[in-house]
Amino acid sequence: MADFKKEIERRRTFAIISHPDAGKTTLTEKFLLYGGAINLAGSVKGKKTAKHAVSDWMEIEKERGISVTSSVMQFNYKDYCINILDTPGHQDFSEDTYRTLMAADSAVMVIDASKGVEAQTIKLFKVCVLRHIPIFTFINKLDREAQDPFDLMEDIESVLGIHTCPINWPIGSGKEFKGVYDRQTHHIHAFTENNNGMKAASDRDLTMDSPELEQELGSELYERLVDDIELLDGASDELDMDLVSKGQLSPVFFGSALNNFGIELFLNYFLEMTSSPLPRMSDSGLIDTFSPDFSAFVFKIQANMNKAHRDRIAFMRICSGKFDADKEVYHVQGKKKLRLSQPQQLMAQERKVISEAYAGDIIGVFDPGIFSIGDTVCTPGKKFAFEGIPTFAPEHFAKVRQVDTMKRKQFIKGISQIAQEGAIQIFQEYNTGMEEIIVGVVGVLQFDVLKHRLLNEYGVEIRLETMPHEYIRWIANKEDFDTNKIIGTSDMKRIKDLKGNPLLLFVHEWAVQSVLDKNKGLELSEFGRW
Ligand code: GDP
Repeated sequence: MADFKKEIERRRTFAIISHPDAGKTTLTEKFLLYGGAINLAGSVKGKKTAKHAVSDWMEIEKERGISVTSSVMQFNYKDYCINILDTPGHQDFSEDTYRTLMAADSAVMVIDASKGVEAQTIKLFKVCVLRHIPIFTFINKLDREAQDPFDLMEDIESVLGIHTCPINWPIGSGKEFKGVYDRQTHHIHAFTENNNGMKAASDRDLTMDSPELEQELGSELYERLVDDIELLDGASDELDMDLVSKGQLSPVFFGSALNNFGIELFLNYFLEMTSSPLPRMSDSGLIDTFSPDFSAFVFKIQANMNKAHRDRIAFMRICSGKFDADKEVYHVQGKKKLRLSQPQQLMAQERKVISEAYAGDIIGVFDPGIFSIGDTVCTPGKKFAFEGIPTFAPEHFAKVRQVDTMKRKQFIKGISQIAQEGAIQIFQEYNTGMEEIIVGVVGVLQFDVLKHRLLNEYGVEIRLETMPHEYIRWIANKEDFDTNKIIGTSDMKRIKDLKGNPLLLFVHEWAVQSVLDKNKGLELSEFGRW
């Protein structure tokens, strides 16, 4: 029993979020390096190829050489067992990226020091805020010319609306980058451009009182540091862990992932400041992580690992207890007892079949088509359902036209199944029935995925007619409003999802506000529910 508790206590499950190219992959790689999970930095870059081999589930992925789905990595560091959830960016940005954040207990936000807060970071950040999870900031690429650190703080605070508390502070940047000052210990970690990050950097240790410091930094940087520290101590937010845990205050760190500088410092503080897996809300109240009864929820479904069988893998986040592959579990939504088949975990880059896992872990299980996003599995006889997962506003919409209308049945089946996996969302206009389907996606690549999969897996050819609409809103108080009576704008479309929930679709963002102004009491939301 003591071991069981310890296993859960030592777990940390977090997602890394960033705009493409800020350094997420490089940072992940260095984390794995510290964990001893890989020996040579650079292997995660190869991850794109390695991942290929395991998630070789779609031609399109091969063609484009990118991974369409997000992945999970587990490794040990010191006494911790760490689960990192990757949130893919670039063209493979999709609703999956958002949904991954539902399985994390905290998020690490990587920001490029020369660029500040960028578009995709803002989107992902909003999802973290929705969940009130702690958000840690790593400001990367200090070895390049960077924006003034005070401006970066200001940028985060004003654009994201979160308070910041620098835990360390950079001394210079670019060619002048000398290291970081640790505000907690008052030590200076000096930067020496070393070994391309091939092995863990041994930071030299100086304090503000070290007599050689001024000479080491040069008088200009030294004086600026003294001034900065004074200003920070006087003006910056205090480290209030209660606010951190609610996601209202972000501890901020500086460094350079590529040079492996500031990573260990970050990792140590981060692990200390974050908690073990958190309890999760269900229809029976909060579910205690340390309860002996196993429970988990499905947050991602990845299709067709094996094309011949139309297999799927359902990814689950374990929320309480211990998973034992030999024991039966209860699938709440399917109302059935079953044994989870071929449970697996991705350890660093290797997928392996496991026999046990603990709260905080993510497991992938073989899914014969029974699971939906948000489903709960729990211990037989102790049933409850976890709170649903939100659906996120797609930003691209298209009308779907079937080329061969004779294949109606396959088409409906195919598109419904793909929607059930959460890769796309489907809608209908009022009074049109299934003849006219509107598909909404978060990233445009999903349009190609849909076309490709319908053709290859269901033998159905479709044409997509893109629509100018980009803003979708769920009607939060649909009970109080007759959708047909909502006073709209000329660009507004009334649509419904498959469950019949009413939604509004707009071309322009300003129209959303305009409709709110015209319809007093109307509440619109950017998130729906599965
Ligand atoms: P991702 O798209 O966020 O995963 O970013 P990557 O980790 O792939 O990094 C994008 C580019 O920035 C790559 O060329 C990296 O080598 C580079 N990079 C990452 N971290 C640093 C850093 O600390 N300093 C510099 N100069 N380049 C970096």
